[in-house]
Amino acid sequence: TDRQQLIAGLIADVPDFPRPGVMFKDITPLLASPAGFEAAVTALVEAAPRDIDVVVGMEARGFIFAAPVALALGAGFVPVRKPGKLPGETISESFELEYGFETLTVHRDAIRPGARVLVIDDVLATGGTVGATAALLRQMGAELVHVAVLMELSFLEGRARLAELGVDNVTAVL
Ligand code: 5GP
Repeated sequence: TDRQQLIAGLIADVPDFPRPGVMFKDITPLLASPAGFEAAVTALVEAAPRDIDVVVGMEARGFIFAAPVALALGAGFVPVRKPGKLPGETISESFELEYGFETLTVHRDAIRPGARVLVIDDVLATGGTVGATAALLRQMGAELVHVAVLMELSFLEGRARLAELGVDNVTAVL
């Protein structure tokens, strides 16, 4: 669609970032464009099921999209963060990266059991980030209703990894 072309044209390919051999998708031109940013948020809002209670965004780029989507849906926003950032009692999930491990945390009481949750991120790559977030939601007894991302790097097969974790309700704008 026109909207997808607008969004895609504002995401830059940066070779060898953050490491040699990686082609990084840079969303900063999209964010700097009023029409582009609006198109991206609107596309994510349209991907959302009805009756979402909470929108979860993951540090750091997930925050940028999850917060305006939460406002548009009349839902709350809950941040999933790197360790050591949240002041209250937290729960954690670790997952494997290419080199070593990453841990994500959330306030233990941030989401009530049974709440209907939409998870938003900018890029779905290996699926590790969304998978760990799904595990945090499971620990809280929340219902992961849907995952919406701006862009999926399908060659990394994140969708297959998520399916193995029982997460198959994933849509990507690009
Ligand atoms: P995954 O955990 O699926 O391997 O990686 C996804 C996470 O890493 C997302 O939170 C995303 O922000 C970040 N990420 C990985 N690759 C890229 C990329 O090429 N561009 C951007 N903007 N973020 C990326």
